[in-house]
Amino acid sequence: MLARRLPSILPSLTLAEALDVTRIHSVAGLLPAGQALVSRRPFRAPHHTVSYAGLIGGGAIPRPGEVSLAHHGVLFLDEVAELPSNVLEVLRQPLEDGHVTISRAAMTLGYPARFLLIASMNPCPCGFLGDTARRCCCPPMAVQRYRARISGPLLDRVDIHLNVPPVAYDDLAARAPAESSAVVRARVEAARDRQLHRFRQVPGMYANAHMGPRELGRYVRVDAATEAVLKSAIVKLGLSARAYHRVLKLARTLADLEGVEDVGPGHVAEAIQYRVLDRGTAVA
Ligand SMILES: [Zn+2]
Repeated sequence: MLARRLPSILPSLTLAEALDVTRIHSVAGLLPAGQALVSRRPFRAPHHTVSYAGLIGGGAIPRPGEVSLAHHGVLFLDEVAELPSNVLEVLRQPLEDGHVTISRAAMTLGYPARFLLIASMNPCPCGFLGDTARRCCCPPMAVQRYRARISGPLLDRVDIHLNVPPVAYDDLAARAPAESSAVVRARVEAARDRQLHRFRQVPGMYANAHMGPRELGRYVRVDAATEAVLKSAIVKLGLSARAYHRVLKLARTLADLEGVEDVGPGHVAEAIQYRVLDRGTAVA
């Protein structure tokens, strides 16, 4: 539900992005008749039984897979732990480079694949671990095995880990109405504008997520107090260098959403909270 609402708060496609998306859908034969340009960000939600070729791309003449059809949009993988591990591991390339390479005997082809990945999984095989209303009966070893299906290197490439506890119906009904998608979207558009401005002289880069270590050093400067929060998190959580960079990028985005120029200790502290799975206790 949360994932499916996401496209409603994403910034509109730029013309260049719309052209990219249209090209890929056209190659895949998925451009609706009479439609010249895809104007909405793609939202792809393949089932966990999707084949390797279906997800990454393939065929005698390699066609784009779901990762490319989701280019500039959202790839939603529900019950991600159910995907075969070889399929999960190949997600690392597009998550890192925004690109996939498909090799066949006859040829090697590349497709763009820069998507926003949303993946969901249960806290344990039965799904009730951490639930206050129902009891989980999974042995600890089974929980560990289940979580281990998502490898550390793959988790490292995910910016935000979030524990979504079940909400009782009464709580949901009693809750005050949240902000509308339009209000949130306006904030997202403003944050994206700040990023477009920030990277105006860096070709091919238009969002904080695309920053490498060099750009991080240049665009995400932190003061001593913020540095101290970061250092203590690295020691306590044992963050990898990659996870550390994710924290910085996310903190930059949180500051952009707030409309402030400097990344402060609050932004970094919030970004660290989204590394739940680095702590090895997804239900904390
Ligand atoms: Zn369980």
